[in-house]
Amino acid sequence: MSHLIIKEWKSLQEKILVRRNLINSLELSLALLGWALKFKKSNNEVICNLYADYFKYYERLNPHDYNFHKKWYDLDELLDTILGTNTNDYRRPIVIVRDILWEIIAFKTDILCENCGQDEYRLFESLQNSQDLVLCCDNCSHTIGLNNEFPQDIPNKYIPVKKNNLQLSKFNPSNFAD
Ligand SMILES: [Zn+2]
Repeated sequence: MSHLIIKEWKSLQEKILVRRNLINSLELSLALLGWALKFKKSNNEVICNLYADYFKYYERLNPHDYNFHKKWYDLDELLDTILGTNTNDYRRPIVIVRDILWEIIAFKTDILCENCGQDEYRLFESLQNSQDLVLCCDNCSHTIGLNNEFPQDIPNKYIPVKKNNLQLSKFNPSNFAD
């Protein structure tokens, strides 16, 4: 079982290595989502559960909505993480792919978390009303509703802010070079 995930991981690494100097964030996120999708309909229950736990969330998101011009991460570093991770632990690639997808898709602001001070907030929009925005900290889950004082159920009712959300222009991305 674990052998299958490691085999697919090596195949993903080879695919990305060939495109190393050409790949952009959109192409990378599509490649990672395509990789994850291979495990959705696996005959193996453990693999299916891994897919559900780590990747089902992304089914409702279209990577083309997250092709931001401003970047808050270093794409080269993300690629280095993928290409440099050679492991026999099948969970490592799953976690890395989930984390990199999150890094690319969830817009990170330059606003430091006022609760933990360890990370900057990511920006979310309500599925019902895209003008209803929420700041949320990855590190401690501290949440600030910008339009709604008590936002409820962020994982189900909010998604990472889309690039065409007009409100996004009011926010600066985190500066990864800091
Ligand atoms: Zn925090």
